[in-house]
Amino acid sequence: MAKRMKIPIKSEAEIRKMRVAGEIASKVLQATAAFIEPGRTTSEVDAYAAELIAENEGIPTFLGYRNFPGNICISINEEVVHGIGGARRIQPGDLVSIDIGVTMDGWIGDNAVTVPAGPVSSEDLRLLAVTEQSLFEAIDHAREGVLLADLCGSVETYVNRHDFTVVRQLVGHGVGKELHEKPEVPNFRPDGNTPRLKAGMILAIEPMVNAGTGEVDWLDDGWTVVTADRKCSAHFEHTVLVTDGDPEILTWRPRTALPEQLGVTL
Ligand code: MG
Repeated sequence: MAKRMKIPIKSEAEIRKMRVAGEIASKVLQATAAFIEPGRTTSEVDAYAAELIAENEGIPTFLGYRNFPGNICISINEEVVHGIGGARRIQPGDLVSIDIGVTMDGWIGDNAVTVPAGPVSSEDLRLLAVTEQSLFEAIDHAREGVLLADLCGSVETYVNRHDFTVVRQLVGHGVGKELHEKPEVPNFRPDGNTPRLKAGMILAIEPMVNAGTGEVDWLDDGWTVVTADRKCSAHFEHTVLVTDGDPEILTWRPRTALPEQLGVTL
């Protein structure tokens, strides 16, 4: 039992493989984000990402995971996460979340971004900026000796200060050879004792932030998570290596939702 609770510590050789998986996952995510535009269907976006993953000799991690039918997750507006590519057509003003996992040589990189399709409202831009910044608040805690609870709590503290809410029914996770490893990484301070982080732990940190209520529902497809009030949601994720110095973002990409880039004030 105690063994099951153990958070994996990756060896140097394993970290090298995770760096490769993270780099490819990031490359595919950035190219797919650039492909998002009004008029495309979500299945076209899914197919585009699948092609890029194949070109890089990777495997789409999510395809077939607990029978998930898509290559990636694509979730629009009120859809929080786990949307499946299909006939829905991206409209001007949509917020489009894409979450991409790539397996390279058995190791997984997991990352997500939310992008605006054409011009969106300033409130939607603020949602993007706050969500991306909340991810970086958490990443800054991914250091040896920090309590996991402090990393998790930093997300909700930042989000609430900006009058948005975090989703509590879905959480981030450790990642490695398995998509979901120990520990759970909620976007709020968990109850009770949490471990101190150690160098070599790898976490998929992924704030899901809602404009309205934090409550969510599941659609009849069994996968797509939507906000209970159908207001917009945003999702940003990185795969992060805990070190005894600065955290290392294995899925690093340039930031896209900085307030100054978006023309909003926080
Ligand atoms: Mg994830």
